[in-house]
Amino acid sequence: MSNKCDAIEKKLLHYMQKAIRDFGMVQKNDRIMVCLSGGKDSYTMLYLLNKMRKMSRHQFDIFSFTLDQAQPGWNDTAMRAWMEDQKIPYEILKRDTYSIVKEKIPEGKTYCSLCSRLRRGNIYTYAEEHEFRTIALGHHRDDMINTLLMSILYSGQIKSMPPKLLTDNQKHIVIRPLTYCQEADITEFAKLMEFPIIPCTLCGSQENLMRVRVKKLIAELAKENPKVPSNMLHALSSIQPSQLMDSKLWDFKNLGREPHQSLAEIIDVPCLLDDAEI
Ligand code: SF4
Repeated sequence: MSNKCDAIEKKLLHYMQKAIRDFGMVQKNDRIMVCLSGGKDSYTMLYLLNKMRKMSRHQFDIFSFTLDQAQPGWNDTAMRAWMEDQKIPYEILKRDTYSIVKEKIPEGKTYCSLCSRLRRGNIYTYAEEHEFRTIALGHHRDDMINTLLMSILYSGQIKSMPPKLLTDNQKHIVIRPLTYCQEADITEFAKLMEFPIIPCTLCGSQENLMRVRVKKLIAELAKENPKVPSNMLHALSSIQPSQLMDSKLWDFKNLGREPHQSLAEIIDVPCLLDDAEI
């Protein structure tokens, strides 16, 4: 391994371990199902988790899971060889979600949202059938900040991808060990490590245009101030409800009200316009 590769590995491992510590992602004797899509992010996550597992003297186990979605040109021969070489237990499960997506989504529209939903469904089903409580996904810092800005601009909500999540049915814990890792480091590391990547473009879908623009916008701002991306990530862990407008998080109505004053004393102002017009 070259010095450069070694240095990036140390940096990525440091940030991954910090995220695991900060959010209590891994516990002793956990069996973690690591989702390997075949892209640079998930290869990096799997490689680093395996490294950490060895460093922790096997205090937890990992299992690599890949869903072959039957996209044209899918070839996992090199992936299988890599996994054997790394001695990582794995399964590559074939489920033809590609045909469903092609059938349901009109030509020219992006497939990603339905494709991801179907993939997620298969992942959860597999995890349940094989009794994996913890599922690791390869999203990184830049995914999180792009999602945050997308959500503010196009959904009107301040939310992103959490580092750790309990699924709605409470059966699984989803973890994102690369939460603090920068995409640029991952890209370089994956290249230096020569991971046998399977492109996510086999399906022929275009990346969501809005996501591309948001990514470009953050990159432009980062040229002027390199701290922009890390500031955005920091904002996710530094919420100040009193400086926002969410009455569910901050009791604005009762703010400064003397104990003897009742809410009825607050003047009732008539509504002139529909709320939706704000
Ligand atoms: S790029 Fe293709 S394979 Fe990847 S999420 Fe979108 S539709 Fe699915």
